[in-house]
Amino acid sequence: MRATSRAPGIRMPGTRPRAEQVRHAALALAALACVLVGCTIPTDGAATARGQIGGAPEPVPEVTAQVPRPASSTPLAGRTVFLDPGHSGSQDAAMTAQVPTGRGDTKDCQTTGTATDDGYPEHTFTWQVVGLMRTGLEQLGARVVLSRTDDTSVGNCVDERAALANASGADAVVSIHADGAGQDQRGFHVCYSAPPLNDVQAGASVTFATTMRDTLVAAGLTPANYTGTAGLQPRADLAGLNLSERPSILVELGNMRSPDEAREMTDEAGRARYARAVVQGVVGYLAG
Ligand code: ZN
Repeated sequence: MRATSRAPGIRMPGTRPRAEQVRHAALALAALACVLVGCTIPTDGAATARGQIGGAPEPVPEVTAQVPRPASSTPLAGRTVFLDPGHSGSQDAAMTAQVPTGRGDTKDCQTTGTATDDGYPEHTFTWQVVGLMRTGLEQLGARVVLSRTDDTSVGNCVDERAALANASGADAVVSIHADGAGQDQRGFHVCYSAPPLNDVQAGASVTFATTMRDTLVAAGLTPANYTGTAGLQPRADLAGLNLSERPSILVELGNMRSPDEAREMTDEAGRARYARAVVQGVVGYLAG
């Protein structure tokens, strides 16, 4: 919330320098409290504070001129977030073209990804979750850039997506995926490049991954019980992370072969829960 312009000034006669100082102090305290906890400061709140400290009646200017804005409702204003919905809506022969991994060897341009046992594809899940994330991030003031434009065409190779993310100047890069493991395996894990290939990978990306892991746990998601350590997984084989010069993570939101997680992923409200949790992780990293 923020201070509004609805609060009118109190108009009373008389001016006393000392009381003026005390009144300013009271207003400043009220403003600080609102910055910390978020509130709207009505004019009568200032009058109450003045009454508590025994000041004399005096003119009170418009509150909005005195009170700094509380915590912004657009904490990501001025920030760029690059979102990569993993895989592509369709594939062609170029999928097996070899591209650099960032560690001296090559790998396929792109992979098909996995699916639930009922055939709901990973690329559609990632596309839909990223769409929800984009809306949430933009509402928070971020500029959002995507690695692919739709869920029907052949998307960019993994190295091209890293180049796009680097060129975007993103403050945070998030690649969204879902895994295809055993039926009894479940939970999320957050990947980052390791061993690091530049300073950003050594520092910011690890911080981002840890913040995301902590936020997802706080949102009620369960760290993977079959890979990684407590929801974190350093990886050397993911080209998008290896080639990144921006704070970058890859989030495997869950296992599409787990009946419980497949149910969550194929449900619109479930996808919204995933998206909301990851957006909170981005906010935690960029504005926390
Ligand atoms: Zn994937």
